Amino acid sequence: MNEEKKIALKLEILAREKEAIRRKLVITARQLAVTAKEKESARRSLVVTARKLAVIAKEKEVARRKLVITAKQLKKMSETLENKVLARTKDLEQIRSRTEAILTSIGDGLVVVDKDGKISYINKSFEEMLGWKSGEVLGKSMVQVVPREDQNGIKVLFEERILTQVLSGQKFVADLTNPFYYIRKDKSRFPTSSIVAPVVLGGKIVGAVEVFRDITKEKEIDKAKTEFVSLASHQLRTPLSTVNWYSEMLLAGDAGEVTSNQKKYLEEIYRGNQRMVELVNTLLDVSRIEMGTFIVELKSTNIVRLVRSVVEEQKPQIDDKKITFLSSFEDNIPLMQADPKLLRMVIQNLLSNAIKYTPDKGRVEVSLFLDNKKNVILKISDTGYGIPKNQHNKIFTKLFRADNVIGKDTEGTGLGLYIAKSIVEQAKGKIWFESDENKGSTFFVVLPLRETRK
Ligand code: ADP
Repeated sequence: MNEEKKIALKLEILAREKEAIRRKLVITARQLAVTAKEKESARRSLVVTARKLAVIAKEKEVARRKLVITAKQLKKMSETLENKVLARTKDLEQIRSRTEAILTSIGDGLVVVDKDGKISYINKSFEEMLGWKSGEVLGKSMVQVVPREDQNGIKVLFEERILTQVLSGQKFVADLTNPFYYIRKDKSRFPTSSIVAPVVLGGKIVGAVEVFRDITKEKEIDKAKTEFVSLASHQLRTPLSTVNWYSEMLLAGDAGEVTSNQKKYLEEIYRGNQRMVELVNTLLDVSRIEMGTFIVELKSTNIVRLVRSVVEEQKPQIDDKKITFLSSFEDNIPLMQADPKLLRMVIQNLLSNAIKYTPDKGRVEVSLFLDNKKNVILKISDTGYGIPKNQHNKIFTKLFRADNVIGKDTEGTGLGLYIAKSIVEQAKGKIWFESDENKGSTFFVVLPLRETRK
């Protein structure tokens, strides 16, 4: 090949290479263009993302600020609540200490028991009066911790305790005629008066509250009063006997003839004086009962004969009022151990009441019978004025007379049933009644026979 051809070939090759390079460059330029585009879109999406992030950051900031506010509010609320709770606790504490102060400062003993009679609270006066400390008695049975005795030192049984009766839902009637005693930790005793009330929640008895008082002072005053009555009655007997004696003599004409008018007046004096003697004797009986100087002389007593003789004695009053009188006595009532004088007083009182409180043409019935527990029962019923229901619980109280008889033409002292109850209870018996106003009354006396022979 000649030189020229060689050069031409070379030039052609070069031209081709140039073309190839140009093409490559074009491709590279294109690729670069594509990359730049991508870069641009990546940049744009970065910008978008950055904006989004900025928005999120802003939102986060808002949320954070909100949270800070909420936290602040919460803190404030909790502070307010805390203050309120503190104030309320203080109030409650004040109420509690005030209640505690009241319970502590009342001079009366106070005990709260649960439904089983277990002590759940006692106050300071309880501790002082009975010698027990709160810690020693909490959770223990009140009836066992504090025994109760009657006047004669006989322990009151569990089922007869007022607390037991109140807890079992029985209606309790305060018996003011019979004082009782509470026994201290050191076994000494003091006379007490107490009131027990049930604690009712949702219609159920869940416990009871008892408030009691030491009545030693009252008893002393009462004793002084009784002694005075006794002394005064004794002193009255002598002049009354004189009046009795001399009016009897005048009536008998010992000081000369008396005109019928004078006789009428003298009889009034005599009857008035008799009533006064009876009253003085009754007062003496009451003071004897209260001073415990009633002499009881037990004898073999025929109660049927005793009742018959009292009926005989009161026959004039029965006839006077045209009262239908009925009596029935069970056969074979044995002789019993009793004080006939005292038993007579009980029968006299109940029968005279039945007659006195029954209008003319009424009916009075007396019966005596035995029960299977070796007791004799005396039943006296009438068709008289009866006793108003709301006064039933006061009938055996000293000096009490019911409203419905005070207005009527009946005389009385309100001492008869008090004496009768004292006598019956002294003989370990029981006395009670059933009565409806304007229908009549029935009095029952149950006495142990303590028989010696048939
Ligand atoms: P007194 O008869 O002297 O008033 P008591 O102690 O014997 O006193 O009786 C007390 C009260 O009981 C009477 O005042 C009366 O109100 C009532 N009472 C007693 N017995 C009867 C009776 N059989 N019927 C109606 N009321 C009676």
